[in-house]
Amino acid sequence: MKAITVKKPGGAEQLQVVEYDKPIPRDGELLIRVEAAAVNRTDIMNRESSSGYLDNPILGVEVAGIVEEAGAGAKIAVGTRVMGLVNGGGYAEYAVMPDDRAMVIPENLSFEEAAAVPEVFLTAYQTLFWLGQLRKGETVLIHAGGSGVGTAAIQLAKQIGQAKVITTAGSKEKLDYCRLLGADILINYKEQNFNEEVLAATDNQGVELILDFIGASYWSKNLSSIKVDGRWVLIGILGGAEVEKVNLMELMSKRIQLTGTLLTPRSDEYKAALTSEFSSKTLELFESNKLRPIVDHVFSFDEIKEAHEHMENNKNIGKIIVKVN
Ligand code: NAP
Repeated sequence: MKAITVKKPGGAEQLQVVEYDKPIPRDGELLIRVEAAAVNRTDIMNRESSSGYLDNPILGVEVAGIVEEAGAGAKIAVGTRVMGLVNGGGYAEYAVMPDDRAMVIPENLSFEEAAAVPEVFLTAYQTLFWLGQLRKGETVLIHAGGSGVGTAAIQLAKQIGQAKVITTAGSKEKLDYCRLLGADILINYKEQNFNEEVLAATDNQGVELILDFIGASYWSKNLSSIKVDGRWVLIGILGGAEVEKVNLMELMSKRIQLTGTLLTPRSDEYKAALTSEFSSKTLELFESNKLRPIVDHVFSFDEIKEAHEHMENNKNIGKIIVKVN
């Protein structure tokens, strides 16, 4: 089969399409003929680093496709259209997935749309509701509103959380899109001090929850944007990992709960439990178009270098998809 691996750790030019052995499903696993895969920042980290999170030399953590073969004990029938997380190996014509992580694709979604669901919607669901404990009527600050995770989080916070959403992004185009998805307050972080805008929008109280993809460069402004007893979930470090001159007193005096998380290295059991709860709460909402996978651009398999560069240049609104078959 065709698959995408990395020649040596480095830039997008290190990506290569190679011939690889088709994987064999073990007990409880599905062999999936991949129709579409999606690009994630975790793939870029794995491409750049010789010590990524994955053992699999083939990149890619999510796919949409058709079940070609079911290992012993797997409960999903051959021929079913499924989407879900894989432990690497997604950028390939065939991939294996534990069957308790496969979600049946709603009929109204294409494979390209389905590939835009698992990683960002599961991440957004986990961080908003499991870690962030978002409750009805609360206000959540979602950074990078135009990102894959951001576009999913805005929709979930509105549709399931019934929360007020304040979002930041770096362009009017991205903010306009966030408004279409339901965001209530839009802040262009390149033109406005987002913390001042957040305080103005919350009667100087701050938000109950922050979904933070940015990290170091937003540290001080996040501290002033969060309410007393607020929850702050760190899921990305696009603005750097090291914060200079941290004053821990501010964390204490506001009684802030700061949590970090990474989905890819989580256990199979955790991913299965997350997938199960997410499916039960959201698949009907996808069927009724209340939740929508946001596809920015579909690249061909041979355009994988361009697909990675598109993400690294911060051009996408929503997901970047790679059409495989
Ligand atoms: P994405 O679609 O590539 O979007 C990222 C966006 O962030 C960019 O388009 C850019 O939009 C904004 N951005 C980039 N650098 C920035 C900076 N220094 N300051 C402010 N904004 C910046 O990303 P994604 O796939 O949704 O992922 C978003 C983040 O979540 C990434 O950090 C990713 O690693 C993380 N993530 C974490 C987990 C987890 O389990 N922890 C899982 C999935 C993703 P603007 O034009 O608005 O600047």
